[in-house]
Amino acid sequence: MRDFTYICPESIDEVCQLLSEQENAFIIAGGQSLLPLLRLRAADLSCLIDINGLKNANYITFEDQKVKVGPTARHAEVANSETVQNHCLVLSQVASHIGDVQVRNRGTICGSVANADPAGDPPILCALLDTEIQANSIRGETTYSGSDFFHGFYATDLEEDEFVTEVRFPEISPPTGVGYEKWEPSEGAYPVATVGALITLEAGSISEAKIVTGAIEPGPTFAEEAIDILVGQKPTTELITQAAISVGENSDPIDDAEGSILFKQELMKTLSKRAITTAVTSAQGGA
Ligand SMILES: Cc1cc2nc3c(=O)[nH]c(=O)nc-3n(C[C@H](O)[C@H](O)[C@H](O)COP(=O)(O)OP(=O)(O)OC[C@H]3O[C@@H](n4cnc5c(N)ncnc54)[C@H](O)[C@@H]3O)c2cc1C
Repeated sequence: MRDFTYICPESIDEVCQLLSEQENAFIIAGGQSLLPLLRLRAADLSCLIDINGLKNANYITFEDQKVKVGPTARHAEVANSETVQNHCLVLSQVASHIGDVQVRNRGTICGSVANADPAGDPPILCALLDTEIQANSIRGETTYSGSDFFHGFYATDLEEDEFVTEVRFPEISPPTGVGYEKWEPSEGAYPVATVGALITLEAGSISEAKIVTGAIEPGPTFAEEAIDILVGQKPTTELITQAAISVGENSDPIDDAEGSILFKQELMKTLSKRAITTAVTSAQGGA
């Protein structure tokens, strides 16, 4: 491995200053995505900024109807947080199924959002729930919207000198419900196909629907045709099946070692049906 400088700042301002001054600087949070890259010498690194020493950065709070997750809060802490379970249960459920115990004990939601891995779970949830993604740089603070922050393969709106300092998830409660499903080839592996669904009901009909797919595309993707099928209709089994078929048929997976195109499209139909059904049930106040 080539030589690099290692710095462990204690404040957000120090990180911003370092990002503005240092060339080829990388932040390390949990290291669960960065360390494999460094091991493969796939990153041109000259300065490693370790944010694990930041003061007051490991927090999960609930304010202004939002669950706020700080830059060093681990997946396991998010999964086990009563605050998250009480106000945004789906976030706890998603975090509790990321990778294995080791990954969850080190990996962070903010790192995952910044990394924008096509198979990552937090980016899909951020797009689905339209989370607020706060970033800081020497130029100040910017808040991005989760629904249009991701632009495909490891690409986001984040500028070179910015870093993610907080992700804010909205409170989810009836008449809005969320369902999230993914399929992994083995325990602890990255998912091959993922679907998130959000449904809001009004007088028994669907007033708002969002469906976001992931892992089979380069980034979180809204299933627009399925959304159009659902909005304004009563959430019957037939309607949900029709929307789920549309998600599968409009998905554009590649044929690889993890499965054929047909297999992945069928997978998307099954996962979509489950995710939409769960979202409807929870929008109705069910478990
Ligand atoms: C075996 C294995 C299985 C996994 N399975 C899953 C899975 O099922 N689902 C899933 O979602 N993820 C999975 N992951 C990835 C895991 O969730 C990582 O935690 C996550 O991708 C990155 O978080 P991190 O804190 O470890 O980031 P790091 O590895 O420290 O950093 C990743 C990248 O983000 C940058 N970065 C980190 N924090 C910030 C920040 N605050 N602001 C700006 N840039 C930042 C780094 O510079 C680097 O480029 C898996 C990882 C492994 C090793």
